[in-house]
Amino acid sequence: MINNVRERNPMPEQPIEVRCDNFNEVALGYTEADAIREAMRCLNCRKKPCVAGCPINQQIPEFIAKVAVGDFAAAYDIITVKSCMPSICGRVCPQEQQCEKNCAHALKGEAVGIGRLERFVADWYAARNPISVPEVEKKGKKVAVVGSGPAGIACAGDLAAMGYDVTVFEKLSYAGGILTYGIPQFVLPNEVVNRHIDTLKAQGVEIVTSSPIDKSKSIDALFADGFEAVFVGNGADIPQTPRGLDTSLEGVWSANDYLTEVNLNTDALPASIKDAKRVLVVGGGNVAVDAVRCAKRVGAEPIMVYRRTIAEAPARRDEIEHTREESIEIKELTNPVECIGKDGKLVAVKLEKMTLGEPDASGRRSPVGTGEYFEIECENLVIATGTSYSEDVVDTTTGIDKDKWGGIAVDDGFKTSRPGVFAGGDAVTGPQVVVKAMGAGRRAAVSIDEYLSAK
Ligand SMILES: Cc1cc2nc3c(=O)[nH]c(=O)nc-3n(C[C@H](O)[C@H](O)[C@H](O)COP(=O)(O)OP(=O)(O)OC[C@H]3O[C@@H](n4cnc5c(N)ncnc54)[C@H](O)[C@@H]3O)c2cc1C
Ligand code: SF4
Repeated sequence: MINNVRERNPMPEQPIEVRCDNFNEVALGYTEADAIREAMRCLNCRKKPCVAGCPINQQIPEFIAKVAVGDFAAAYDIITVKSCMPSICGRVCPQEQQCEKNCAHALKGEAVGIGRLERFVADWYAARNPISVPEVEKKGKKVAVVGSGPAGIACAGDLAAMGYDVTVFEKLSYAGGILTYGIPQFVLPNEVVNRHIDTLKAQGVEIVTSSPIDKSKSIDALFADGFEAVFVGNGADIPQTPRGLDTSLEGVWSANDYLTEVNLNTDALPASIKDAKRVLVVGGGNVAVDAVRCAKRVGAEPIMVYRRTIAEAPARRDEIEHTREESIEIKELTNPVECIGKDGKLVAVKLEKMTLGEPDASGRRSPVGTGEYFEIECENLVIATGTSYSEDVVDTTTGIDKDKWGGIAVDDGFKTSRPGVFAGGDAVTGPQVVVKAMGAGRRAAVSIDEYLSAK
């Protein structure tokens, strides 16, 4: 029976007064009763607008119908046809800009909590089922995967399930890409990511960490080692800095470096982070929100500065809400223009007040300087204004074309211009979202299988 209430069932969360002192997950997940109640709100719309909004066209009403009748195992079976990472996507997908944006309930009330239900189903399954992988007949062909982010994990997992011998080469000393070093544990706990890494290992995938593919070991060298195809999923992790900011001062951090320290080196933070009393984070995306909430948890007084208004900010709404709940100041229409240092250390940032002008190419109203300036004293400035492509892989390999923005150029089958080399995820699209990287990795695996089967 449909439960036609307009508000969605609230997500249980760690109390605000407790969570700012720890890195534990803030959202605690639905209980079985919460999930059934929420699933009963789904109208099972004939045209399935939610499915059209999902980048991988997840079978949303079908899995929700199973949750509504308490058949969580069947719901899991449906979800995992399209997604190999429901526990991750259920936590980090910007559902309000995707499936939930299209939900029929959103016209007059709150969308069905599709992401919350996806997370519930995946967590329910993981809590009851140890990792197990089916026996597969080996094909006797080796495939290399460059990068262990969601694109690489998804591609490697699907290829291993088809019987290929897969080796993942990861430049860092740990696997997981942004899922591990970037997104903090209070949003995405390590154990959720580790289950995926452990599943790959159980499938026989070899993960070689601290092993960059670059001039020291190129894609040509991988082919010479007997790999018959290569998937490149090395992301887009080179920080972009707003013009004019002196990043050489101690205390000025790229968001990636700051998050890596706080997420992976929490107990031995560098003095520059540990001793900072005030931290300014510049940006309006998920990265900025993650960084500013990390700064709060390491004991600083954080301020997020964004050159547009929060209404235009690309960060997920849930995370902006959590930021506000955690009493973190957000200064809208504010842009840093100068880092002020003393004895090589950051002591303050000069900022300009902005106003909104005409819409730009993104469709959002563009920020325009007012010529009015002010300063904020701070010890850290964390720059979260975007990243771009690394040249490590492409520029050390002949025959891989780039598109006009610098990403790896691929066709619909994720083939690059070099036969046998495929690519997907942020390395192709620029910074995007986890579900798109995962989808690209999976579709590339199908193409790689077609390519190797025809060889
Ligand atoms: C802080 C932060 C928060 C985010 N929050 C969200 C969110 O809430 N929701 C969401 O959907 N998306 C979010 N994103 C975006 C999302 O994480 C990315 O779109 C996604 O991880 C891209 O996946 P990928 O596999 O293409 O690349 P990555 O995850 O970047 O993985 C690439 C991997 O390749 C490795 N690598 C790089 N160069 C080499 C080399 N030369 N040799 C070998 N290995 C190499 C890297 O170390 C990395 O492990 C966030 C991003 C950041 C930075
Ligand atoms: S649009 Fe909303 S109500 Fe309709 S089927 Fe999808 S989740 Fe259910």
